[in-house]
Amino acid sequence: MELSSSYQVTRLSAEIGVADYCASYVDPPRFLAYCRQCDAYGKVWSCPPYDFSVEELWQKYSRMQLFCRKLTFGPELRQRRYDKEQMGQLLRGTLYRERAYMERELFTLEAATPGSLALLPGSCHRCGEGNCTRREGKPCRDPEHLRHSLESLGGDVGRTASELLDTPLLWSSEGRLPEYLTLVAALLLP
Ligand code: SF4
Repeated sequence: MELSSSYQVTRLSAEIGVADYCASYVDPPRFLAYCRQCDAYGKVWSCPPYDFSVEELWQKYSRMQLFCRKLTFGPELRQRRYDKEQMGQLLRGTLYRERAYMERELFTLEAATPGSLALLPGSCHRCGEGNCTRREGKPCRDPEHLRHSLESLGGDVGRTASELLDTPLLWSSEGRLPEYLTLVAALLLP
């Protein structure tokens, strides 16, 4: 099942001061509790637990640009019912492909902006699913491209998307695709 040409991509962006963002949208203990329930927790270097202070990382930056890719599916795809395996395959394929677009864009912006740091959606899959060296207790194979996500630093992506990017998050339900999926990335600026 190929979805690559079966959704429309809408790009959205916003900018906010980091102090304001941290005051209203960042709560590391709350989101760490969610991370602990995820398969990637402690198994991928892009995800918690970290050997650095998340709070100190935020304090190094003054502004943040937010970037969103909203993937809107056509009605024919949304009317279909998918079994669990098909749905997983569709969502993974779509989100990995779109994350890769965002990664290229954000790395280009980061390279053009000294002192900035890209935050990418979800966990790192550069070495393939389940192949992160963290599982073996070995260092990251590609630390130059290792970046964390907004959510893994305690950012409330749900409220960020709905309140700052005007795009409430939606999820698949009962074997059906949502109207759209949303990926949120950011660039922290000095
Ligand atoms: S680049 Fe590879 S080793 Fe490093 S975090 Fe990503 S998947 Fe893990």
